[in-house]
This record gives sequence, structure tokens and C-alpha cells, in this order.
Amino acid sequence: MSSSATSVSAAASSAVSKVASATKAAATTVKIDKVKRLAHRKTGMTYQWYIITGCVFGLGVWYAISLVRSSYLRRKGAAARAAGTSKESAAAASGGSSAANVPSALGVMFNNYRNVAVLPLYIYQRSTLNEWFFTIAYTAIVIALGLRASGSQNTWDIANPMGMVAFAQMPFIVGLASKNNVLSALTGISYEKFNYLHRAAGRVCVLTTALHTFAWIKKGLGKHGPGDVVFTTGVVAAVGLLMMFLTSFQPIRKMFYEFFLIAHIAFALMFIVAAYLHWPDFDYWVWPCLLIWGLDRFVSMARMIVINKAWLLPFAKRRAEHSACKVELVDPNVVRITVNRPILRWIPGQHAYVTMPQVAALRYEQHPFTLATIPDESGDAVFIVRAQTGFTRRLVNSLTTDVTTDINAYIEGPYGTTHRMNHFDTVVLVAGGTGITYALSHLLDIIKHGREGNTAVGVVHLVWNVRQGANVAWIAPFINAALEKGSGNTRVVLSVYITRSHASDEPNADGTDDADVDPNGVDTPATGSDSSTTEVNEKDRDHSEKYVAASGLSPAAAAVTRFYHGRSHVEHILRSDLAASTADGAGLGVAVCGPTSLLLDSRRAVFKVNSASAVLQGQKPLSLHCQTFGW
Ligand SMILES: Cc1cc2nc3c(=O)[nH]c(=O)nc-3n(C[C@H](O)[C@H](O)[C@H](O)COP(=O)(O)OP(=O)(O)OC[C@H]3O[C@@H](n4cnc5c(N)ncnc54)[C@H](O)[C@@H]3O)c2cc1C
Repeated sequence: MSSSATSVSAAASSAVSKVASATKAAATTVKIDKVKRLAHRKTGMTYQWYIITGCVFGLGVWYAISLVRSSYLRRKGAAARAAGTSKESAAAASGGSSAANVPSALGVMFNNYRNVAVLPLYIYQRSTLNEWFFTIAYTAIVIALGLRASGSQNTWDIANPMGMVAFAQMPFIVGLASKNNVLSALTGISYEKFNYLHRAAGRVCVLTTALHTFAWIKKGLGKHGPGDVVFTTGVVAAVGLLMMFLTSFQPIRKMFYEFFLIAHIAFALMFIVAAYLHWPDFDYWVWPCLLIWGLDRFVSMARMIVINKAWLLPFAKRRAEHSACKVELVDPNVVRITVNRPILRWIPGQHAYVTMPQVAALRYEQHPFTLATIPDESGDAVFIVRAQTGFTRRLVNSLTTDVTTDINAYIEGPYGTTHRMNHFDTVVLVAGGTGITYALSHLLDIIKHGREGNTAVGVVHLVWNVRQGANVAWIAPFINAALEKGSGNTRVVLSVYITRSHASDEPNADGTDDADVDPNGVDTPATGSDSSTTEVNEKDRDHSEKYVAASGLSPAAAAVTRFYHGRSHVEHILRSDLAASTADGAGLGVAVCGPTSLLLDSRRAVFKVNSASAVLQGQKPLSLHCQTFGW
């Protein structure tokens, strides 16, 4: 055999042996992975994910059914309205109870206790029973799975199982915190509404990490004592988690939001990396968590780049064009921001993040604001912003004229899922202060659908509690334009309640100063008392004209607007709107965005009006949606 043939055969045999050893290594990895997976399945933590998947599937099916139902009711109601065959409200038409109404009455009773009533503040925040149910159920199931794992080893040693529970929370916690959230897309539940579950899973992680730590201390640390990498990384992970927990209490979130945000991300990274190094075998919880996080950041960045045409930003002239915005001081403490970004499309109730590096203390801090209008051919998006104490205050303070176009704004969005309203017979939109942004976008959307003959809504009633009548000027241009184009078969009613009271009229009132209180204004009594509201039109017509003149409303808009002194009495409003409602669509829909007192008042009102006995008598069920400016 020649020497070249010998070397070829040697090379071939070495290649074969390399392939064989690579195959063996791959097989071993697969085997280890399989063993790890099986071991983990034995501990039961994969069941947590089966349960979550099952719940998401159930909620997804429910969401799909509700989409189909609302689309059907919207078309049915619109057709009846166009044909002039709308049915009179069953509440007015019938007098007696009917067995056919029993399921609806039971549904209303269930929904009232589950979703409308809130538990007292002293228990924990103002949560609904629904939120409590899911918080407790989630915590109980996950801890039970951990205990089951301890029990299955017949040792009742909770140390490692609790560590596993903590690991298994990671993807869920991060997934629920992301703005670009798959769970929200599948279930229609907005990411900010999921925030309570993010907190619940976070608390479970803190609790189980503590149990894991103390159980190991009690057992004695053995070979993993001080100096060992498992010990060091475990301590770092636990400290990171504890710091994350301590810096996320509500007072800190409220007072130092940017600090909270930076600390939260930094400590989360500290925890995740240290936990991975602590026990790399559980990397299959860590990688998905980092992947979800990375994807969220990537999608957010991509949105920001596309909406603001970031590839043109290096060119000064194009930058000015694509980051331009108009800021108008419409009140000493309120600005209206208009940006022209034709590519940004959204649905009513959604919000977007605004970055203004020239104004912000931390150059690229982002703040969420509700999109107050609806997308149209102009490509304009409008935000109405009340100055708080941080970025928003700096924005107001930076203005030297009432209107400026010198500030650059970068927009990212839209975010949040919306509450559909066009399938209701009557819609009542209740707003307090800048909560008008949420209500206005729905109002404009319903008017547009009315014009297109594409809504079941016969009456849309905007109820706005605002400090001064002249504040109507914030929204007058949009209402004037919408009504000028017409609202088809949909009747529009605007009720403005002039409260002249302090900062608690705002959806994000906590921590707001009262500096801008009208010095001549009077504090009105809390909502709910009949005497708190007096119709200005009836009492003092001059006043009404004065308000109309100051508000900038067109004659068509002024004709449908009534001004009142005092706060709105939501229960009265609902009762009278319900009595006048037709019954082709889904009954009466109520959406509220405002301060806590207004939300509570509206909840109470819906609870009372939407009673099971009334529904048994034939009254159509009410549907309530509450929106807040925070999480
Ligand atoms: C979904 C959503 C929609 C909103 N829509 C509007 C709107 O249409 N009009 C309006 O005036 N306000 C709106 N807000 C509230 C607005 O985002 C805050 O008032 C604003 O970010 C306060 O900035 P600041 O630095 O001046 O706040 P600070 O004075 O520092 O804090 C005031 C309050 O705002 C909260 N906050 C501060 N920064 C943020 C942030 N980046 N993200 C979330 N909350 C923050 C704080 O926790 C605190 O409770 C909305 C908030 C959310 C969550």
C-alpha cells in the first residue's frame, strides 16, 4: 500500500472516530436532558405549566366566543337601527319575572360578586374577588406541587423542591411583565391587567426561595458551605430577589418610579444569573425566561424604530421631521401632545409610550399615555397629559410658550388590549380629569361606527367630571370634527360635571399636589349624594352659555352638551339611560376611567342597578369595564 493511501485511510478512520464520539456525546446530552426532564416531571413542576396552558386555552376560547358574539350583536343591532325596528328595552316592556331570565340573573349575580365588587382597602389594595381567587389559587397550587414533590421522596424535605418551585416561576413572572405579551394576545386581557398575577408569582418566588434557604440552613449546608460556588451564588440570588421585593412596594413605585424600574431590572438580572450559576441543571427555566425578555425588548425596539423611522434619525433634518410633536399647554397643569405618525394604528383604549430626551431627567425614560383619539387619514395621534411631579412636570415647566414644536418625541406602541363597545345598545363612558383620554377614544370610535352604520349603539353618553367648564376645550376640536361628519343613527349626549375640587379628580391622583385648584372653586361633596349635582342648564342658563363659549364647542356639539355643578351621580345616570335603552344588542355597557373614588362609585352603582332581581324581571345585564392609569 502506498504512503498516500495509508494517510488517507488514517484520516478517514480519525474522522469516523470523531463522528462516533460526537454522536456519543450528543446521545449522552440527550440522555442527560431526558433524565433531567423526567426527574423534573417527577417533582411535578411541569404540571404548573400544564395548568397555566389549560387556563390560557380556556380563557382563549372564552375570548374567541366573546369576539364572535360581540360581532354578531353589533351587526344585528346596526341592522335593526338602520331598518328602524329596534326593540324597546325589556326593562320597560315587561313587568314580571320569567324562567327564561334565570340564567342571565345567575350570571349577573356571579359577575357582580366576582368582578364588580371590590374588597376593602385594608385587606390588600382594592382587588376584585376574581383577582383574589386567581392569586390564592395560583399560590396554593404551586406550593402544593412543591410539597407534593417533597412528599414523593418520603422525606418531607422541602429544601430542594422549594428551590425548584422558585425556578419554575421565572418564565411566568417575566412573561406577565412584558408589554408584548403572548398571554394577552391569546386571552384579550391586557398586560397591565395581568400585573396582579405577575406580583403573585413574584411573591411565590420570594416565599419558596426563603423556604429553600432556611430549610438548607436547618439541615446544615454540608459540602455546599461558605466558600463553595453553590453557596456564594445562592446568597447572591437570594439577595437579588429580596432587594427586588423590597424595592417594589407600592409607596416606592408611586414615589420613585424610575428608581423602582431600574432597580427591578438590575436585581432581576442579578437573581436570574446567580440562580442559573447556583444550579445550572435548571437552565431550562432560565433560558425561556431570558428568551421572553429578549423578545419583548426586541419587539419594543422594532416598534420604536419603525414608528419613528429611526433609520432616518442620523440626518438632522429628517430627525426633526420624524420625531416632531406639538405640545400645547391647555391648562396650567395639562398639556395636549399631538404627534404625526401615520404608521401608528391603534384601537380605542390603547396607550403608547412617549420618550422625550430633551425633557426627561433620564434621557430615554418612557411614560405611558392613553391615545385620546382614533386613527384617521391625518395620521395624528393625541395625548392629554396632566403634570405629576417627575417627567410630566419637567415637560410643563420646560414650556416657554403655550404652543411649542421644538421638542422631539419618540413613540412606541400601541399597547394594551381594548374593551369592545360597539355591540351594546347604550354606552355610558364615565371619566374623571385626564381619564377623558380613554373615554374620548371610545366616544369617537362609536360616532365613527354610527356614521358608517356599523354599530348597535343607539345612545352614547359621555359623563365627564372635570374641574372647570373651560377644560372642555381640551377635547372640543375632536368632538366638533366628529359631530360635523355625523353620527348616523347613534345619539350623542355629553354631560360635563364641573367639580372645581382638588387633585383627586384625576385617575393617577395619588401624590398629586393641589397647587392648581381653582382659588374660587368650591369643594364638592363626595360622589353618591343626590344633592351633589345640580344641572346648570336648569338653574342658570347664563352660566351654561358662559361654559359653552369658553369650551370652544361648535353649535352642533353644544346642542348635545349639558353642564352640571358637582360630581356625577352614576347610579341615577345608569338608571335613566337604561330606561331609555333599546334591546337588540348587549344591553348597557359602562366604561370608567378616573380616580379611585369615581371607580368605586361606578362599581357600587353597577352592582345596585344590575341586580339579579332586576335582570330576572327582564332588565338587560350591564357590563362594566374599569380602567386606571397605573398598575
Ligand atoms: C396604561 C396607562 C395609561 C396612562 N394614560 C395617561 C393619560 O392618558 N394621561 C395622563 O396624564 N396620564 C396617563 N397615565 C399616567 C402617566 O403615565 C403618569 O402620570 C406619568 O408617567 C407620570 O410621570 P412622572 O415622571 O411625572 O410621574 P411621577 O410624579 O414621578 O409619579 C406619578 C405617578 O405616575 C407613576 N409613574 C411614573 N412614571 C411612570 C411610568 N413610566 N409608567 C407608569 N407609571 C408611572 C408613578 O408610579 C406615580 O404613581 C397613564 C398610565 C398608564 C399606566
